[in-house]
Amino acid sequence: MKKTTAEKPNLKGLCYSCNSEVDKSKMTQHLKYCKQRAAAIAAEASAKDDGTAAKTKFFHIVAEGRYNPQYWMHIELPATDDLEDLDIFFRDTWVECCDHLSAFQIGDISYSDDPEDLYFGDEIEEEGDAGAGDSEDVDVDEGEEGAKALNLESLPPGLVEAMTPEFLLKLQEFDNTDDLVVFLREELQSFPKDLVFRALRGGEEDRRLALKQMLVAEMIEMLEDRSLGVALEKALKVGQKFRYEYDFGSTTELSLRVAGAREGVLVDEEDDIHVLARNIPPEYKCVRCGKPATKVAAGYDYWGVIEHAYCDACSRKAKEDGWLPIVNSPRVGVCAYTGEEEAYFGEAEWEDDDEEDEEDEEDE
Ligand SMILES: [Zn+2]
Ligand SMILES: [Zn+2]
Ligand SMILES: [Zn+2]
Repeated sequence: MKKTTAEKPNLKGLCYSCNSEVDKSKMTQHLKYCKQRAAAIAAEASAKDDGTAAKTKFFHIVAEGRYNPQYWMHIELPATDDLEDLDIFFRDTWVECCDHLSAFQIGDISYSDDPEDLYFGDEIEEEGDAGAGDSEDVDVDEGEEGAKALNLESLPPGLVEAMTPEFLLKLQEFDNTDDLVVFLREELQSFPKDLVFRALRGGEEDRRLALKQMLVAEMIEMLEDRSLGVALEKALKVGQKFRYEYDFGSTTELSLRVAGAREGVLVDEEDDIHVLARNIPPEYKCVRCGKPATKVAAGYDYWGVIEHAYCDACSRKAKEDGWLPIVNSPRVGVCAYTGEEEAYFGEAEWEDDDEEDEEDEEDE
């Protein structure tokens, strides 16, 4: 009966610098060679008083709906921004409906503001005090709230005892958590892949090594900052793919990629995330009459916009529980999403000298 009448997804987008329409697959290249964008970047340095402004590293990030990639966006922001800045940006432009939880998945780490992730810290210090005096603690001072300390007493004693004194001493050389985590991650990489099997076969040295591997993994878990307060430059590198999830019930998932980086001048710290390009809104047809659809029945997740899109006239006769507007977002038709809070326009209002894009291929 009812036939799917959605049009072929429109995969063209608009370059916000020059206003030209460009295919999705060619936008990364276009932005690299867009004359207007180059001019805007060149103007950056002079826009800030005498041109001696400090350089900032910017990340160029490409985002798209994981299951509806006809919605996509290129943005640029300072690498010193944190994941929370990016979270807020996506909420404002693309996903916010009722303040659901969100998270980033980068490599094997999930970053979120889930309180469970924050339980280390205070609690452990108390436990440490109970053990009083003899301190095997490696006190790492980060000078920030939420900084995590390595407390060997809170780790399984069997594991700690199996460590060599050299290794335990080495841990104490670090005076900040970040360096220690980098060291531990390198250690973790150095274990043989088949270690578990070798240890099960019973070699003494392999078993000791397997215990060390477990301990190193535990310490990383204990120390690594997995909150949204992590700076992009710490969590990401050029070429990296990662993911964003908004709302763990009716989830909207975004696939993300760091397409490049450049040095430039940050002109306005308040307005530091810029949309470089964005998809042209896909059009949907009314499933009843084929005219342009204006609304989508609520409650069907992201399929709604394909299967339950209606024009105004037909929607009055349709038996649906509620309606949402058709908006240019991968969250269209989901939960109570009605569109962006605040419009972001990517007019490159800033500057600097030459662009150093280290782009990777646009691989779809
Ligand atoms: Zn352009
Ligand atoms: Zn909601
Ligand atoms: Zn209709």
